Amino acid sequence: MDYNKLKFKCGIEIHQQLETNKLFCSCPSKLRNDPHDISIKRRLRSVPGEGGEIDIAAKHERDKELEFTYEGYSDSTCSVEFDEEPPHDLNKNALEITLEICKMLNCDVVNEIQVMRKTVVNGSNTSGFQRTMLVGQGGYLETSHGRVGIDSVCLEEDSARRVGKILSTKTNKEKSIIYRLDRLGIPLVEIATCPDIKNPTQCKETAEKLGMILRSTGKVKRGIGVIRQDVNVSIKNGERVEIKGFQDLKNIPKIIDGEIKRQLKIKVKPEVRGANPDGTTTFMRPMPGASRMYPETDVKPIIIDKRLLDEVKVSELIDNKILEYEKLGLNPSLSRGLVKAGFNLDDYQYNLDIKLISNILVEIPKDIKSRYKLEHEFCENDFRLVLNALELKKITKDSVINIFKDIAEGRKINLKNYSPVDDSKLEKEIKTLVEKNKDLSMGALMGEVMKKYSGKVDGKLASTLIAKYKI
Ligand SMILES: [Zn+2]
Repeated sequence: MDYNKLKFKCGIEIHQQLETNKLFCSCPSKLRNDPHDISIKRRLRSVPGEGGEIDIAAKHERDKELEFTYEGYSDSTCSVEFDEEPPHDLNKNALEITLEICKMLNCDVVNEIQVMRKTVVNGSNTSGFQRTMLVGQGGYLETSHGRVGIDSVCLEEDSARRVGKILSTKTNKEKSIIYRLDRLGIPLVEIATCPDIKNPTQCKETAEKLGMILRSTGKVKRGIGVIRQDVNVSIKNGERVEIKGFQDLKNIPKIIDGEIKRQLKIKVKPEVRGANPDGTTTFMRPMPGASRMYPETDVKPIIIDKRLLDEVKVSELIDNKILEYEKLGLNPSLSRGLVKAGFNLDDYQYNLDIKLISNILVEIPKDIKSRYKLEHEFCENDFRLVLNALELKKITKDSVINIFKDIAEGRKINLKNYSPVDDSKLEKEIKTLVEKNKDLSMGALMGEVMKKYSGKVDGKLASTLIAKYKI
């Protein structure tokens, strides 16, 4: 498809959870699946926004006349989540992370933050609104297809998590929805780009780059469901359609392609659609209007002065760090592996080859998992123990995997058990072995030696010695 000719316009909105406590109370931001011990029922009504009108999306939800059940935990949910107590002060840590992201995206930061309420009537918020605040605007990021403007960076609270539903026995339609409050209030950074994206490939690149920038801070949540991408697309003479729920960034071009083909066949309405794994999209709800925002009066405006902004340090980009490791001679996969696992080589200064150090940090834990099916999170001390012993020549490279296997199996490590066999002793043993087993091949002899001395002898030396006596 010729996206230029179609006057294709596209922007992305990314929501990323931060690794902090909740935004307006100090409850932990952990999702739980153990049985809840508090539960309340509510019904919600749509109210007019600042402009005096009821939002069309709010009306769409109200017309379903649903009942909502909220589940919480007495030790990790407080009355702020139940909307029975006003919000506490804004989480300073979450604000600082958002300011760092603004700096990384070249945004102008506002002088004063005004918390706003955004009407939400699908029940995913006990209060019927979501608190959100504009922090930065007017930024940009570079892609290989050109610059993409950053329209806004907002900090907001995540919604409650939908965990179940009850159907009406009469109509078989949804009668009641069950939400869990563990997710409600987790800080979310929302980044909205300008509609500068010119084709689906650039859209994927922009989403990937934004994700990389967010992860570079080291302060965002990792795992499934912690980052959500919405893509807004339109073409000449059409309307804006928002697509939600991309499971995998790789599918972005295919899904956009499919959506534009759909739009070319019909008269497009402004609406929100969900991305399907097969590349198609499905109608979710009408596009929300602008009439759903009004000021939050329970939280005072927050002044962002120059001193606060200057104090916010900007992290090095993951992509730059990977390049730096590649320049040191590591291959791209190992470089990426180090950064992905959160290791900084500067913290591991040993008189050893950096390829060996990196292998131990990145590849050995993976080997233990795949080869021995052992699930174990190795700690800093495990790595230091092995690297120190290697540096002091107390162990050989070949014993490293055995030590990690023993750690993973919960054994107490005594380095003496892994100390290398003395060269002259090894030579004597090999001489006897070869003489006794004249019929065995080189490979079989090597097998015998490694069986006896696995990890405690240098493989190369053993094979040289076998060759020496085999003739
Ligand atoms: Zn709370």
